[in-house]
Amino acid sequence: MSNETTAFDLAGLRLAPGEGRRLDLSVRIEPLLLGGESYAVEPQTIPVRVDVSRMTGHGYALRLRFAAALAGPCTRCLRAARPEVEVEAREVDRPGGGEELSSPYVVDELLDVAAWARDALVLAVPVKVLCREDCAGLCPVCAADLNEVGPEHGHEQAPDPRWAKLRELKLD
Ligand SMILES: [Zn+2]
Ligand SMILES: [Zn+2]
Repeated sequence: MSNETTAFDLAGLRLAPGEGRRLDLSVRIEPLLLGGESYAVEPQTIPVRVDVSRMTGHGYALRLRFAAALAGPCTRCLRAARPEVEVEAREVDRPGGGEELSSPYVVDELLDVAAWARDALVLAVPVKVLCREDCAGLCPVCAADLNEVGPEHGHEQAPDPRWAKLRELKLD
């Protein structure tokens, strides 16, 4: 069952100036590409809450809130990671109010909820996607998972530097 919203007709709410409405909608967000890796956005249908206020005069003030998870490889250890991301974004659209008061997501009172949600999520994702905040990553010498082998893991001898270079390239 899918009832995802792409564009929502704000005019259809028939709000009087100063009046507001809370909308519970659903969007689907395609996987995000971060640092060359693909991260699925879960759940597949994301419940989003949009608060719409009709401004006096004309135009709308909008607030978007939702939570989603990114599923993909941890950028340190490459194991599966699934950080939850909380998203909150605001937009104002007042026709004739100049560029700052014009929302790219509102065209002719149609709100592109899906595009807004995707962009807001991209802005909210962590710089590094980690399996857990204190992920120890991989050993730079032998690529062992330091979460598993523990902090006492080390190497007696300096490895062949050419080999280390190769590892670096692979892990980048
Ligand atoms: Zn990790
Ligand atoms: Zn090692």
